[in-house]
Amino acid sequence: MLRILLFLIIISITTEIFAKNQVKVYYERTDFGYQIFADNDEMCPVSIKFEFELTNLEADSEDGKVYLLEGDKKGQYLFDVRVIDKGKTYRLGYRFWNNIGDVLLDEYDEDFEYYLPFKKSESYKLWQGYDGSFSHQGKNSLDFTMDVGTPVAAMRDGLVVKVEESNSKNCNTRDCIQYNNFIVVYHSDGTFAEYTHIEKNGSKVKVGDRVKQGQIIASSGNVGFSSGPHLHVVVFLPRFDDRLTVKTKFLVGDGSESIYLEEKQIYSRNY
Ligand SMILES: [Zn+2]
Repeated sequence: MLRILLFLIIISITTEIFAKNQVKVYYERTDFGYQIFADNDEMCPVSIKFEFELTNLEADSEDGKVYLLEGDKKGQYLFDVRVIDKGKTYRLGYRFWNNIGDVLLDEYDEDFEYYLPFKKSESYKLWQGYDGSFSHQGKNSLDFTMDVGTPVAAMRDGLVVKVEESNSKNCNTRDCIQYNNFIVVYHSDGTFAEYTHIEKNGSKVKVGDRVKQGQIIASSGNVGFSSGPHLHVVVFLPRFDDRLTVKTKFLVGDGSESIYLEEKQIYSRNY
């Protein structure tokens, strides 16, 4: 008499470098083995990849292959895993990584004209620019000096995908990155903008909201890794373990021209 032993082990590891993502992976049993599915409760697309540990099983996939999950959708079919020899023991194991957005995206709208991230008729100093020496080495991020409570405007239309506004702690070292308050907005070209250090409970928007360019979305602050009251903004393409920050053009003055901003300059938004 043939005895069949079945073992099943699922190892699921999510790497969440910047924020926890609402992604769940699960399987359904079939007569040939398993079908693997994912729920994506993030509002935007999410990239996901797997590493397999299979015994007597064959996946209709491969290690490191990137799948793009649709935003706000459950039950997304990914691939099959088939039993090779039904008379023998089999074991399913995998780990997965995910991040918001399309991690394979390299191209974006380089000519898009961003709004300065504050109200019309106001002016602020760009204290630290792209690749700045204080904390922006190798990063295309911008720091505008502004008082706590200053209204922050959306630089571009988009969909709000992350809001963290619960923190109040601040310090001048990287240990305080974990206390950053921020809003992340997903743009139509696949880039994201992050608006950081906003006041505790300073967000005017919530996850799932669509924002318009120029709309007031937050009150600026001095929360997290911050040396003084300021707004940190960055536009980036996502990667699994990092983000590719990009330079963008901003409308300045009366809005008749767009330029790459330069450190220590004062910029006005009269449009
Ligand atoms: Zn900064």
